[in-house]
Amino acid sequence: MNLSSLRTTARQTPARRRDRMTAYRDFHRQSIDQPEVFWGREAARIDWHRPYDKVLAYDKPPFRRWFVGGETNLCHNAVDRHVAGRGDQAALIYVSSETGEERVYSFAELQEEVARFAAILQAQGVGKGDRVLIYMPMIAEAVFAMLATVRLGAVHSVVFGGFASASLAARIEDAQPKVMVTADAGMRGGKVIAYKPLVDEALELAGAAAPGKVILVNRGLAEAPMMKPGRDLDYATLRARHLDDRAEVTWVESSHPSYILYTSGTTGKPKGVERDTGGYAVALAASMDYIYGGAAGETFFSTSDIGWVVGHSYIVYGPLIAGMATLVYEGLPTNPDPAIWWQLVEKYRVSVMFSAPTAIRVLKKQDPAYLHRHDLSSLKALFLAGEPLDEPTANWIAGELKVPVIDNYWQTETGWPMLSVCNGVAPQAVKVGSPGLPVYGYNLKLVDEASGEEVGVGEKGVIAIMPPLPPGCLSTVWGQDERFLNTYFGGFADRLLYSSFDWGVRDADGYITILGRTDDVINVAGHRLGTREIEEAVSGHGAIAEVAVVGVADALKGQVPQAFAVVRDPSMLADPVRRSALEKEVIARVAHELGAIANPARVFFVNQLPKTRSGKVLRRSIQAIAEGRDPGDLTTLDDPASLEQVRQAITRA
Ligand code: ATP
Ligand code: MG
Repeated sequence: MNLSSLRTTARQTPARRRDRMTAYRDFHRQSIDQPEVFWGREAARIDWHRPYDKVLAYDKPPFRRWFVGGETNLCHNAVDRHVAGRGDQAALIYVSSETGEERVYSFAELQEEVARFAAILQAQGVGKGDRVLIYMPMIAEAVFAMLATVRLGAVHSVVFGGFASASLAARIEDAQPKVMVTADAGMRGGKVIAYKPLVDEALELAGAAAPGKVILVNRGLAEAPMMKPGRDLDYATLRARHLDDRAEVTWVESSHPSYILYTSGTTGKPKGVERDTGGYAVALAASMDYIYGGAAGETFFSTSDIGWVVGHSYIVYGPLIAGMATLVYEGLPTNPDPAIWWQLVEKYRVSVMFSAPTAIRVLKKQDPAYLHRHDLSSLKALFLAGEPLDEPTANWIAGELKVPVIDNYWQTETGWPMLSVCNGVAPQAVKVGSPGLPVYGYNLKLVDEASGEEVGVGEKGVIAIMPPLPPGCLSTVWGQDERFLNTYFGGFADRLLYSSFDWGVRDADGYITILGRTDDVINVAGHRLGTREIEEAVSGHGAIAEVAVVGVADALKGQVPQAFAVVRDPSMLADPVRRSALEKEVIARVAHELGAIANPARVFFVNQLPKTRSGKVLRRSIQAIAEGRDPGDLTTLDDPASLEQVRQAITRA
């Protein structure tokens, strides 16, 4: 038993727990058996300029359309519709611990900025269906740009500011934007990262696909950026020119694309996920109530970045649609000190917080006193997503914050959670190590990798969704319907099923635990092992802060597991005797927990693991290096030095 589940279950008698479980099951069942009734009811959460004719059209499986014929607008639902009732309330709170800037925009002020930004885009020729590529640091103008784009019925493609020019160019080529919005620079840990040279290089690389206009927000951080006459436009100048201009909302049909967003690229080449408008708005509005429990007038703080799906759904659109203030933060969790997030929680009375396990692991290495310096009484829950939440990390943060810590599992493709507890439907116990139950709307199955046949309780299966996918999930891969079909629905013999490419296992209560990605499976002498299980066993050792396990080719066994671990206290590695003792302890622990078959052949110690820019461990590149192969596409790798460490750890051994 763990802390958080004790806390949630303590108040419930077994009978009440069963009632709530039943209540949730019934709710979920209706969403699957009567999707039109279910989603027709939820659609009332947003404004429709023209009512839809039909809740669901599923005439060309697996393609489906939600709220057919309905006209709406994402920006209207996030901003304009709140102005009458809560115009003076905070909508966007912008804090940069890098520059010291702090600005609060009310809904009325946000509407002004966004409608003006839209007028600027319009003046540059942006109209319905045109793409606007947004390559920006975490500043308020980035959010204005997103909202302004969808206000016009144009389609944004936000590229994480921090990708190098080749990654940016590849996305430009795919999205073919008319206009690009960027800034002179971003900042990270006090270091200025100039954007303009990268942008210029990317535009060069993109050739004919490059946009004709680049709007640059000059923060005064980098040397006066070189401006190419006719192409490069200064935002402040345009803003002054259009000070009194406001662009009206362009109403679009529900299935009209709102944005393109590329996946993180953890397993391969990123895919351009296309999102609709009406279905997405409805799905987010419902999730704010049923999953996140945020109410209008409160403050939501997601520590992600607008370049990721969490940023799209739960920095920008979700909280604003719900009438909440959203906190947009530029900076590290540890700068100026590890209390910064909690200081913001106190100052802005944050009620719901959303972060990633990787960030919590960073904070776990710090003195917990930082966390207790501030009044956190406004906080109701912390949500974590993006990668497996290991038990030690979950228990630590739940114990420190004394609020429910809720793991939720989803993907860029789905846009909102597939697995979670939905306390807004009926309070459910949290089981540490599991992101919970299939979320309403998702007909989620655990299936055999080849046949698509459902597996039983306790059996490992691929997490799959029986189409039609619920509102909010991707409509297709941008410009590539074939790829949408083949990539996501082509995996199971003769069944049309969406594959998540993740493994899971279900317990008797229906809770699902993620066992890793389908291409992260190790085959040891005919036994199939998930790297996640081995990682859990390794990270249970008190000295280990973080670990990645990969399968490495072995002449005898097919593959053997190798572990790459970061220790909590690096000084203990200086002594080779202690280092080898620790390696033996870790191996013994895995043998004890999972059996000797799962034993890592070696445990290598490194200072950091190679991760994507979104904080996910790049196991495929570690594996390649361990096998002496070329690590492949590294455009999404955060810090090349981390791969070098892996290489050195292996050669040193
Ligand atoms: P690509 O698909 O391009 O390889 P990616 O899958 O890393 O990149 P995202 O869509 O950002 O891109 O990540 C979704 C994936 O992250 C999920 O499929 C899953 O593997 C992992 N994930 C997300 N949330 C959780 C969670 N709560 N627990 C375990 N894994 C999670
Ligand atoms: Mg993926």
